Amino acid sequence: MDLKRLVRTIPDYPKPGIMFRDITTLLRDPGGFRRAVDELVQPFAGSGITKVAGIEARGFILGGAVAHQLSVGFVPIRKKGKLPWQTIGVEYELEYGTDEVEIHIDSLDKGDRILIVDDLIATGGTAVASIELIREGGGEVVGCSFVIDLPDIGGRARLEEMKVPVRTLMAFEGE
Ligand code: AMP
Repeated sequence: MDLKRLVRTIPDYPKPGIMFRDITTLLRDPGGFRRAVDELVQPFAGSGITKVAGIEARGFILGGAVAHQLSVGFVPIRKKGKLPWQTIGVEYELEYGTDEVEIHIDSLDKGDRILIVDDLIATGGTAVASIELIREGGGEVVGCSFVIDLPDIGGRARLEEMKVPVRTLMAFEGE
């Protein structure tokens, strides 16, 4: 099955020059969704994952399914100000300004082995902050799984420098 064919590209969204990689076309395809989840899990089956952490918002859809597949719990990594209980957070740089990701202070148990899931890795800024956040919360990041890699932007390399194994299912060259 060619998963890449199921991803829709929308030029100049949300602003000129961006090629937006839309996974809703993959998610609505029953075989494609199933296959994507299986492949996100595959390198980490048998790694003793104890929780999946999904990055808002498309990482919730994929990460929830991955957690179900592994029969483990799910932790949402959210943008600042969205979680109702006490949180810990990590700031990261954007092109203009900064943003912050948060988890609930009691999300993780001692010794948790975490798989982080999102739809796409570009600069890696969100994923690097998420790794730092999980580590600060007391978890070990066993790996990160993404459907899409934009290799020319270099996010994957940043994660590998942090000694985190990265799984991606397809790549789009350029941006
Ligand atoms: P980054 O922190 O630069 O790695 O950006 C990753 C986050 O931004 C992910 O949660 C993606 O959903 C989103 N994102 C960045 N670039 C794109 C793109 N070209 N198409 C779709 N989503 C994107």
